[in-house]
Amino acid sequence: MAIVCPLCDSPSAATRRGRGGLSLRACDDCGSRYLDVAIHPYRPAATYDDEYFTPWDMRPGSPSWMQREETAGMRLDLLISMGAAGRLLDLGCAGGYLVAAALARGFDAFGMDISSHAVSVARSVAPDRIKQGVIEEASYPPASFDVITAFDVVEHHPDPAALLRRVAEVLRPGGVFVVTVPDLDSLTARLMGASWPHYKEEHRFYPTRAAFRRLLARTGLGLARETGARKRLSLAYLDPLLRAYPVPALTRLSAFVFRTLPRALREARFTVTIGERLYVARREA
Ligand SMILES: [Zn+2]
Repeated sequence: MAIVCPLCDSPSAATRRGRGGLSLRACDDCGSRYLDVAIHPYRPAATYDDEYFTPWDMRPGSPSWMQREETAGMRLDLLISMGAAGRLLDLGCAGGYLVAAALARGFDAFGMDISSHAVSVARSVAPDRIKQGVIEEASYPPASFDVITAFDVVEHHPDPAALLRRVAEVLRPGGVFVVTVPDLDSLTARLMGASWPHYKEEHRFYPTRAAFRRLLARTGLGLARETGARKRLSLAYLDPLLRAYPVPALTRLSAFVFRTLPRALREARFTVTIGERLYVARREA
């Protein structure tokens, strides 16, 4: 089987290394990077098991959950300022925080996730609104949503073009798609090189901005806005993640700071942009 770039379908690439010895390919044509699928095959059932979400603490009402709901709220407020309203579907809904934030803002919101554990948590927040599975296999009729959101999920998918084509089909013409992906052109990616924290086996590809814009355009999604993706974070949230996905100096620094800070400061939330890009697109008529 020929290995091709998931962003632009080019087979031409050089081998690179990523964090933890990941075998990456750097596309000669669009500059994006992606996992070598011969070495890192896609195994969703084994990857997104009940253990996968342990470092995040998805329990509704936990500091981690509240923080994710705040991030979701900031992003929904951006969409509302652009005129978005109506039926919303959140892909990769995890603990249901975006569905909760969207319902609170008047959207008729639904979620879906591949993980049975995530689905059971999300259903405790939004009963009857959460489906288990993937949008390609779901029975949604064409043009049945006004808004589709996909945060921290598209880069986990082996075939983003197929996913985005299905998104465009399920959205009504003029409907809004909003998505975040790791940003290979970001300052953190350029400064950190092979130790960039986004390099991990669950992330199948790392697009350049130009490559992701072209992918949106060729799947019928017209770019309306893009910006660095801002997130609400705290040390209480980051520390377990840094232990689960160690970054050499940062993990030790975080453990030290975490031990020495009082609880109020550990849980204090701040807003940062950490190497991800947010794109808002509209389905073309
Ligand atoms: Zn490419």
